[in-house]
Amino acid sequence: MEKRREDSFGATDRRIRESVERLQLSPVVYEHLKKPMRFVEVSIPVKMDHGGVEVFTGFRAQHNNVLGPFKGGIRFHPDVTAENVKALSALMTLKCALVGVPFGGGKGGVACDPLSMSASEKERLSRGYIRAFGFLLGPEVDIPAPDLFTDAQVMAWMVDEYNYLAQRHSPGVLTGKPVEVGGSLGRKEATSRGSVYVTREAAKLCGISLKEARIAIQGCGNVGGQAARIFNELGCKIVAISDISGGVYRPQGLDIPALLDHVQKSGLIEGFTGGEKITNEELITVDCDILVPAALENQLTAENAPEIKASLVVEAANGPTTPEAEQILKEREIVLVPDILANSGGVTVSYFEWVQNNEGYYWDLETVNQRLEKMMVQAFHAVHRFGREKCAEGTMRTAAYGYAVQRLAEAMRYRGWL
Ligand code: GLU
Repeated sequence: MEKRREDSFGATDRRIRESVERLQLSPVVYEHLKKPMRFVEVSIPVKMDHGGVEVFTGFRAQHNNVLGPFKGGIRFHPDVTAENVKALSALMTLKCALVGVPFGGGKGGVACDPLSMSASEKERLSRGYIRAFGFLLGPEVDIPAPDLFTDAQVMAWMVDEYNYLAQRHSPGVLTGKPVEVGGSLGRKEATSRGSVYVTREAAKLCGISLKEARIAIQGCGNVGGQAARIFNELGCKIVAISDISGGVYRPQGLDIPALLDHVQKSGLIEGFTGGEKITNEELITVDCDILVPAALENQLTAENAPEIKASLVVEAANGPTTPEAEQILKEREIVLVPDILANSGGVTVSYFEWVQNNEGYYWDLETVNQRLEKMMVQAFHAVHRFGREKCAEGTMRTAAYGYAVQRLAEAMRYRGWL
C-alpha cells in the first residue's frame, strides 16, 4: 500500500517534468511545480464521545498560486499521508490551470477513520482543523472544499469556525457549503455532471453511442452515485456499480433509482437484490463499453488492466490508474480521459460558488449547469486539440498535463517567476 502511494506521487512529478521537457519550457517551471510552496502538518486534539482525547494528524499542502488562491479539498481518510496530500495538491494546480479557473492548487487531509466517528466527533475534528489551519486560509489566500468523506455539513462546521475566528462573515473561504449557508446550486453533483459531459464528448470521438453503451461505475458515493443518477437520466445503461461493500451487475441495465434509494436508506449497496453480486475488484473487469472509476486511487493496476473490457475509461476519481496500468491500456488502445480533465467539474462549480459569494448574488441551477457544460466541453476540446498539435504520440493524459503546464508557465513568465 505504501509503495503504491509513492508511485502516484512519483507519477505526477514525472509527468510534470516530462511536459516541461517535451514543450521545451524553462526548467525553472519544474522547480516551481516539483513540490508545494508550503506544506504544514499539525496535531489536532479531539475530545471523543467516550470522554478521552485523541490526537489526529492534519495536513495542508499549498502547492502553487501563480494563477490565483490555493484551492483544493480536505479529505478525512485512514490512507491520508503527507506524500499523498502533496501529490493531490499538485493535481489541483494542474486541474485548475486546465479547466481555466483562476485558482492555484492545494489539498488537505486528516488521517482518521470517519466511518467509526460520530457526527459530534466529526464536528469537533472539523472545527479543530480550522483552528489549526485558519491562519493559512482566506477567500483570497487558500480556499478548501469537500473531498473523500467530507461533505457540505463538514464545510458548514468549518466555515462557522472560520467566521468565528476571523470575526467576519466570510462565506468565500470554503466551497461546497450547503446552499443554506452560501453554497451554490449544483455543486453537490458538479464533479459527476462534469464527468458525464466529458464522457459524452469522448464517446463521440471514439464512435461510441452513449445511449447504447454499457457503463460500469466504481464508487457509489458523492461522485459515483451522482454520476449513475445523471447517466440514467440521460437514458444510458448502467450495467454495474460498486462500493466498499461490493457491487452489483446486470447486463440488461440496473434500476438506478431503486439502487440509489437502497443506498440512501442503508448506506451501502450490500443487500440490493436487483443484480448479480460482484466484488469491488470484479467491477473493473466487468463486460462493459465505458468504465468510470469514481472511488479511490490505484484501482486500475498491472494485474487487472489486461482484463479490462471497456474501450473508454473516464477517471472521475483522482489517480485511479497506476502508471503500469496506464501503459497497458495504451498498448491495448483503450482511450483514457485523465482525472485532471474528467473530474474538474467539482472545482469549476467551486469557482462559481466563490464568485457568487463575492458578488452576494446567487445563480439558478440552469445557469450553473450551462456554464459548467461550456467550460467542460471547452476544456475537453482544448486538450484534444493540444494533443493532436503538440504531442501526437502521447495519451490524453500527456496532452492534459502539457496543456496545463504550458498555461502555468505562461502565467509564471508574465509574473516574473522564470
Ligand atoms: N476535492 C475536489 C477535487 O479533488 C474539489 C476541489 C474543490 O472544489 O476545490 O477536485
